[in-house]
Amino acid sequence: MDIEAAARAVKDRGESTRRPGRDPVNLPMVRNWLEALGDDSPAYTEVAPPAMAQVWTMGGLHHRRADDDPLGAMLAVLDDAGYTSIVATDCEQTYHRYLRYGEEVAIASRLETVVGPKRTALGDGWFVTTRNTWYVGDEPVAEMMFRVLKFAPAPAEPKPAPVIRPMVNRDTEYFWEGTARGELRVQQCGGCGELRHPPGPMCPSCTETKPGYVVASGLGEVYSYVVHHHPPVPGHTLPFVVALVELEEGVRFMAELAVPPEEVHIGLPVRIGFRRVDDELTMPVWRRR
Ligand code: ZN
Repeated sequence: MDIEAAARAVKDRGESTRRPGRDPVNLPMVRNWLEALGDDSPAYTEVAPPAMAQVWTMGGLHHRRADDDPLGAMLAVLDDAGYTSIVATDCEQTYHRYLRYGEEVAIASRLETVVGPKRTALGDGWFVTTRNTWYVGDEPVAEMMFRVLKFAPAPAEPKPAPVIRPMVNRDTEYFWEGTARGELRVQQCGGCGELRHPPGPMCPSCTETKPGYVVASGLGEVYSYVVHHHPPVPGHTLPFVVALVELEEGVRFMAELAVPPEEVHIGLPVRIGFRRVDDELTMPVWRRR
């Protein structure tokens, strides 16, 4: 099968039939979404957050792609050609206006480009770009460019690294210097004093670019967690727990939690500990207190 010819055929079909969302834009869904993101903005009493565009047409757990869905068609072609793995690489959303409660949203999709084959770190593959457009009636209200890499997996590395090392850069080196000294450091804005984690170059509240840090007490409670079963992680015995912990200081911080999965629960009081890997790296790890 000629991939480029198949791509042209799918592209020539243009936009798919519009598929309506399951429910109108509604406040209960917005509340859940804001809560999950920890956003307590009061701005959404009459309109929904623009970034929720995709939410309104999600098909649920047992969703099946429509027969004229261009991404589904292109993925099938690439599967047949041996490019069996997939990873999303980037997406860009454009919002034309706010959505109001009660509006019925429908989605349609068209294929923009299929580019390849390209050699990537994951393996040789094709970049497939689609454009989703959300409509209310005939009015486009939001769009999303969505790109995936569909690739043939490269053979596994013969020897895995003994440990996955964090990226240390100018924004984060204070943190790793802290762990080496047994300190949990939280970035603090040099302008307004706000604490933030993960660290970044600029304060999102006052845009000051002189970050400092405070040493946190290292005490907190489990805010959320996952039990990691697969894939294997060098230096770890499976399964293990990764916890998002709310610190006493109010920011949330993610690290491994050294507690058996069946004993972990939301609200579990924890204390930070430090695991020395080698001269250059000390990892923070949560322990029960
Ligand atoms: Zn600030």
